[in-house]
Amino acid sequence: MNISAVMPTYGRTDLVFERGEGAWLTTTDGRRFLDFGSGIAVTVLGHAHPHLVAALKDQADKLWHTSNLYRIAGQEKLADRLVANSFADTMFFCNSGAEAMECALKTARRFHQAQGAKDKYRVITARGGFHGRTMATIAAGGQEKHLDGFAPKMDGFDQVAFGNLNEARAAITPQTAAVVVEPVQGEGGIVPADIEYLKGLRAMADEFGLLLIFDEVQTGLGRTGKLFAYEWSDMTPDLMALAKGLGGGFPVGACLATERAAKFMTPGTHGSTFGGNPLAMAAANAVMDVLLAPGFMDGVAATADKLWAKLEALVEKHDTVFECVRGKGLMIGLKCKLTNTDVVAKVLANGMLTVPAGDNVLRLLPPLTIGDAEIDAAITILDKSAAELAS
Ligand SMILES: *Cc1c(COP(=O)(O)O)cnc(C)c1O
Repeated sequence: MNISAVMPTYGRTDLVFERGEGAWLTTTDGRRFLDFGSGIAVTVLGHAHPHLVAALKDQADKLWHTSNLYRIAGQEKLADRLVANSFADTMFFCNSGAEAMECALKTARRFHQAQGAKDKYRVITARGGFHGRTMATIAAGGQEKHLDGFAPKMDGFDQVAFGNLNEARAAITPQTAAVVVEPVQGEGGIVPADIEYLKGLRAMADEFGLLLIFDEVQTGLGRTGKLFAYEWSDMTPDLMALAKGLGGGFPVGACLATERAAKFMTPGTHGSTFGGNPLAMAAANAVMDVLLAPGFMDGVAATADKLWAKLEALVEKHDTVFECVRGKGLMIGLKCKLTNTDVVAKVLANGMLTVPAGDNVLRLLPPLTIGDAEIDAAITILDKSAAELAS
């Protein structure tokens, strides 16, 4: 037998972590790392946040799972809070980002088809986008490396250049149901959409009767310095996918919708056995307790300002290693002049976790709870790494 017991679909770094506290992780052999990847934008409150740990332990003693055959108090509480703090009127709970996007895509198709437009199913997506690894979401993302060997590619996605409103408008046909965009492309390389583009997509969707879907799986939950990235743009989508940060490390996703967009998502139309189970809801509600506390998001914005100022100086100092810093809030990309994976490896060797992304970018996605000590530690490691790489 040559295959590993765990299916080898990942190129993994040979590190095993045993425990974490805040922005720090410790391996089984006792090495400490500064975690500026947050498990790919997931552990928004760092590791072992006391409030999250207590909430999950408390729920674990009471009840784990009942299925969606019954009401779930934690879902109703979380949904009420997300409704109160977003554009949405309603939401569906699931377990991952891809599932949240599946729900958004299904909701968009059904919105038209339930009104008699049986041939409306196509969705306009942006090049460089990433929406998950299911059959529908690899087709939506459109990346050859994700589609290779999984033919036939699901029909119904028309890809256009990210940021190009004219191309998006030109791609509309009588079969178009929706348009999907990440307000800041994550996997694609931390590429923020400009506000005029997002507003233009909103206007286009309204003009042609399309639903506007925001994939905020990575940007959501405070990452960009606001609870949701769409809040920067003075407009709202019709549907929005959330996951990554929502459970602070517990697997949970949500598809948020306006009442109008979700009008035809009636009993029996969609479902999930695990979606929104009591454990996931306890974790997500605990995350919301912290994020919604007065002043928390102001603190994130202030932290981001400090980190950005230091990163801009770092990029200037090491201009043979880094090209620029870009992104929003604590969703940050360092575009590299050297190969990004080499930079990630060097930074790792110096004790810090980061995540590579498309377009030769090194991603910094620290917990939203970092303070001056973590910022200084990160800058010291990046500075040392860049100096070593340059020499
Ligand atoms: C990670 C990600 C997804 C997929 O989430 P999974 O939980 O891995 O299914 C979808 N969209 C965006 C923008 C993401 O960053």
